[in-house]
Amino acid sequence: MSLHIETPLLESLPLSVKSGRAVWLKMEALQPPGSFKIRGVGAACEHHKAQGAQRFISSSGGNAGLAVAYAGRRLGIPVTVFVPETTTERAIELLRLEQAEVIVHGGTWQEANERAQAFVGASDAFIHPFDDPLLWRGHATMIDEVAKAGMKPDAVLLCVGGGGMLSGVVEGLQRNQWANVPVIAVETQGAASFHAALEAGHSVELERIDSIATSLGAKRVSTRALECAKQHPVHSVVVSDASALSACERFLTDHRILVEPACGASLAVVYENHPVLASFDRVLVIVCGGATATIDQIRKWAEAG
Ligand SMILES: *Cc1c(COP(=O)(O)O)cnc(C)c1O
Repeated sequence: MSLHIETPLLESLPLSVKSGRAVWLKMEALQPPGSFKIRGVGAACEHHKAQGAQRFISSSGGNAGLAVAYAGRRLGIPVTVFVPETTTERAIELLRLEQAEVIVHGGTWQEANERAQAFVGASDAFIHPFDDPLLWRGHATMIDEVAKAGMKPDAVLLCVGGGGMLSGVVEGLQRNQWANVPVIAVETQGAASFHAALEAGHSVELERIDSIATSLGAKRVSTRALECAKQHPVHSVVVSDASALSACERFLTDHRILVEPACGASLAVVYENHPVLASFDRVLVIVCGGATATIDQIRKWAEAG
């Protein structure tokens, strides 16, 4: 038994009617730790447990850390998560609920991550949030499930942080002989490191992250994400924070499920009927989820915007 669950694949009537095409949802928001991350993280943790790892280390105060904490609890392996002082109380509370040890260190993710790296001992496994082939292979199972259901989309809509989900979805499309199905890769303004790299033609590092979609906040995407864009049809789209937040609110009304603004960014492309969708009759949205934003927080951000 894997640590992730097989998620529902739903045809969304409200989104289909709004955008004038069939919109299908892969409901990764329903994974036990709240996001798609458990697919890859679960696979990586099982691998490391089989190799004898006695502890899992993460440096993510977001959904990657939550997925590691969940995997560790299920596998009976202790987990330590290093997070910066900027991490919300809620995220720390969720990590502790999963029985992870949380160590708060430094003012930035870089500092927390450095401390985590220095802490990794010979019998520990460090679980990266997005840049590891074990993760991509695990994330690819979401496309296996869609293929098994017999629903071939004209395009797959997802969001990009460090590019782990993109890498996994492309691997899934290719291993199911769907190499001609394009991916629409969405980021928010201020977190658009993939878009910037595509424009530059090589990997670039953003000076800073300036978006409320913290789960998309990788300053530099993985090399693999850029290779994906060379080996597979990928369209890059950037939306505003306001669009992502509004999509969260509308999705909550339409489907009664709260997602993070990171996921709202993908949904915004449908709600706003972005021109990138023009030639596609059947779109699959990866509803990647996210557990770290409350509805109060989403409404506060929307008001402040
Ligand atoms: C991690 C995460 C992302 C970004 O995934 P990457 O693999 O870093 O590109 C998007 N949405 C949610 C909810 C996430 O947890």
